[in-house]
Amino acid sequence: MTYRIAVLPGDGIGPEIMPAAQRVLAEVGDFEFHEYRIGAAGLAAHGQPLPEHTLNGCRQSDAVLLGAVGTGVQPTDPAAPRAEQGLLELRARLGLFANLRPVRPLPALRGASPLRGSYVAGVDLLVVRELTGGLYFGERGRSGAGSAQRAYDTCEYTVAEVERVARVAFELARRRSAAHGRPPRVASVDKANALETSRLWREVVTRLAAREYPDVAVEHVLVDTAAMRLVTAPGTFDVLLTENMFGDILSDEAAALAGSLGLLSSASLPALPRPGKPVPGALFEPVHGSAPDIAGKGTASPLGMILSAALLLRYGLGLPEAADAVEGAVERAVSAGLRTRDLGGTDDTGTATDAVLDALSGTR
Ligand code: NAD
Repeated sequence: MTYRIAVLPGDGIGPEIMPAAQRVLAEVGDFEFHEYRIGAAGLAAHGQPLPEHTLNGCRQSDAVLLGAVGTGVQPTDPAAPRAEQGLLELRARLGLFANLRPVRPLPALRGASPLRGSYVAGVDLLVVRELTGGLYFGERGRSGAGSAQRAYDTCEYTVAEVERVARVAFELARRRSAAHGRPPRVASVDKANALETSRLWREVVTRLAAREYPDVAVEHVLVDTAAMRLVTAPGTFDVLLTENMFGDILSDEAAALAGSLGLLSSASLPALPRPGKPVPGALFEPVHGSAPDIAGKGTASPLGMILSAALLLRYGLGLPEAADAVEGAVERAVSAGLRTRDLGGTDDTGTATDAVLDALSGTR
């Protein structure tokens, strides 16, 4: 079977790391890649951060691979279109409500984590972040002028929005439990001592757990406590369920456990993943941004991009063996000494990709 993949390299290091994912995918299956513009590249080519042509291309594909968007420079005119709007709009238009961010520090990189190895050993967590609601999509605006000028962003969640993302967290907790041989656990993050949306979040998660997932142990953790526990006892988390902004912040904090943001991958899904079944129309991208400080140098780590391709195989196409092969190749290449600049080494984007491909084809 030939799969059709929409490839959106985006901006900055995006176009430098995208070929790494394509080369790795081509090694494990038959793929047709169709390239589209997004972000600043979309603005430059079509005057829009999410050109209609790009959206249509994504809708016609089995899955979407994205590099990164943004130039790191915000327009001086607040009304001017921003490159990052392209990605927010794409997530909304494709209905990508559940963002999965796995964090499993590789044993060979324990020394790269800012935390002592004993804290990081055994950490294997999955952040399930709500992606199309909350503050980033609420009503916003400005009024007044001078020192009286005010700005506001609003946060709203409906019961249905909380239920559908919580269901993803509970299902994946069960699946991870079966794979790892430990009881299923979900830590649901909120700020129920201060926010009404969080109180609704907690009520809905509690009710859903009792009704449909009595086998899954649920704990409710305040976001400030979750931030602290991620650095003091990260091994106590398995699946971490969060609303949009809390997840954005906590998943970058969790990324530090792995040693570099350049290693982290993500999947954004429009539906509940079922074991062994593909989730059509999902998007896969590294957690990091367009890294304008290193763009054009050819030194960016391609590992987060390659691991995102592994998630595409696992969730997007329902091919867990191929996903395991790619993840295993990254782990073996790193164990054999692969180190990009962000990990204190000298490998560049090209040599790092070659090392993973060598490991994949078994020549190492
Ligand atoms: P960033 O993730 O781009 O970079 C943060 C730091 O990590 C930088 O020092 C960068 O060099 C380093 N880094 C990131 N990816 C790396 C890689 N693959 N290899 C080696 N080092 C890597 O975050 P930022 O600097 O805050 O944002 C830059 C731009 O990216 C902004 O325009 C921002 O809006 C955008 N952004 C986009 C996304 C996305 O496309 N999903 C996510 C975050 C930020």
